[in-house]
Amino acid sequence: MTVRFLDQVLINQIAAGEVIERPASALKELVENSIDAGATRIDMVVKEGGRTLISITDNGKGMSQDDLVLAVERHATSKIPDGDLFNIRTLGFRGEALPSIGAVSRLKITTKTAEDENAWELFVEGGVKGKLTPASHPVGTKIEVSDLFYATPARLKFLKSPSTELSYSVDIIHRLSLIHPQIHFTLSDGAKKVINFVEGVDRFAPILGKDFKENACEINFSRDDYTLTGWCSVPTYNKSSSTDQYLFVNGRPVRDKLMSTAIRIAYQDFLASNRHPVLCLFLSCPPEDVDINVHPAKAEVRFRDANLMRQFIIGALRQGLSGAAHRTSTIISQNAIASFKTPHSVIPSEGRKLEPRDLGIVLPARAPSTPLRFNQGDTAFPKVEDKVAFFAPKPVIPTEAHQSGGTPSLETYSEVPRFCTSNLTRDDDHFLGYAKVQVHETYIIAESKEDLIIVDQHAAHERLVYEQFKTQFAEMVKNRQALLIPLVISLTEQQFQLLTPYLPDLDRLGLTIDAYGTQGIVVREVPPLLFKSDIKQLILDTISEIGDRGDHNAVKENLLEILADKACRGSIRSGRKLSIDEMNALLRQMEQTAFSGQCNHGRPTYIRLGRQDLERLFGRT
Ligand code: ADP
Ligand code: MG
Repeated sequence: MTVRFLDQVLINQIAAGEVIERPASALKELVENSIDAGATRIDMVVKEGGRTLISITDNGKGMSQDDLVLAVERHATSKIPDGDLFNIRTLGFRGEALPSIGAVSRLKITTKTAEDENAWELFVEGGVKGKLTPASHPVGTKIEVSDLFYATPARLKFLKSPSTELSYSVDIIHRLSLIHPQIHFTLSDGAKKVINFVEGVDRFAPILGKDFKENACEINFSRDDYTLTGWCSVPTYNKSSSTDQYLFVNGRPVRDKLMSTAIRIAYQDFLASNRHPVLCLFLSCPPEDVDINVHPAKAEVRFRDANLMRQFIIGALRQGLSGAAHRTSTIISQNAIASFKTPHSVIPSEGRKLEPRDLGIVLPARAPSTPLRFNQGDTAFPKVEDKVAFFAPKPVIPTEAHQSGGTPSLETYSEVPRFCTSNLTRDDDHFLGYAKVQVHETYIIAESKEDLIIVDQHAAHERLVYEQFKTQFAEMVKNRQALLIPLVISLTEQQFQLLTPYLPDLDRLGLTIDAYGTQGIVVREVPPLLFKSDIKQLILDTISEIGDRGDHNAVKENLLEILADKACRGSIRSGRKLSIDEMNALLRQMEQTAFSGQCNHGRPTYIRLGRQDLERLFGRT
């Protein structure tokens, strides 16, 4: 075949392949146009997931006849000021959306400006433009997209069920409406309203959850021309996926790897790597510092100085989180309360004795040989969704924990003093109170003036040890020690290339490593703290971290992760009996340690039940 120019319809269809991936992407482009047109109200209808109809009506400034005819042409836009791609303050700028949508669907645009006497209407079907005709419509624009992808049926095959496609549209509108609280958004599926966000009314609750804000820290951080605002959840309020992370750069919803990495690092000390915080962050920076033209659907951005930006975000989040040093998710206490069941009716009929079953107690056939436990499931650490998982013993780190954490016998249980004899004076009010008793050799029950506090001794101690390690680490680095036998590690060429520029970083952290040939290294000295670690694994993990992130902090962050792991293994196990003095010492240390409200994996270290909670439990209020 000879080389020839493509015709316009084909060009637009190819562009549509990139820009309009599914109904939600068409909706996104059209809503962005309405926002750019200054609309304060946007009403949307998405039928059958957007396959049969996507309709958008706005009260923006509308288009004149001339503009309407041009708008559906490729590369026609009103939005790049002075041809400067780095000074764009609108959501759109590529001039691709309308022609792309027009090329793959039946598109109808009705629009009117304040200056025009009547509205104008234009059809585009499968890329073929119809005639402009006068119409009747108030100031603003209505765009109807019918039979999306009818002209490119291959695309239809990739669409998911109408409800899944609708959920993608809802997600897009959620994101756009978080950043445009001044706009009233409605979305209907043709039968009922799925979204109705009136202007000025809080959208965090319907989008991120009713309990999000009370479990989040406010971020308000600026440095030079950069600002990060928003909310991020306390570490114990976490999810199994990162879908509840709403990120915006200069008013644009984005999915950004750099931001995601920064979030992961900021939370690294408090969350297991497979758990994710919930957050909504608005980043603003000078437009020339961020390239928004790197993705056809404008969903990704690229920062001019990636390292600076990453550090800025990590700093902002850490500062915000430091305000939550002693907070754990309120859901955890609420769920704890919900998990206690109260008997419905305990009043026996006249003349009958009160039986255990009246109290909701079912006696086992034989008396239990071990004390009763709360929900002893073999679950992992609690997710916010999990109701009672908090009470489960934590089998997260197996081996040692399990070996020593056998079921405590009734005898050892009853050995624990029933009354705290240490000096609990009522006017000396410690935040975590005074230990009263240890149960199951795992939990410390403490009492403060107003609250009952239950502490997970392993999780709490793990946090303390880790924070200590971090402060000790700097010292330890200076006293590096030679390995008895230097450790030779052979690497692939790619691993070797990745690692060598970072050898000075490792050296600063106390690891003396030399290149060995062209594909190997030899580790000669390490800080004593790492003496018993698997150094080879540490190096290999560091290399993949460098590969993922490509910055000098990767090395240090990876070492901290190793320390967190060591802290976990070196801390008081569940299943160890503690004296009241030991328990109180732990509580006092927790009070003095930053972030002691959660362990290194995002599990809570304690929960607190207020006097009111207890009264509620017993129906006293
Ligand atoms: P872009 O948004 O990148 O400029 P589009 O193809 O999405 O490209 O839109 C082309 C032009 O049509 C816009 O620049 C704008 O001038 C006009 N336009 C599109 N939608 C609307 C609308 N809802 N209200 C007013 N003008 C609009
Ligand atoms: Mg646009």
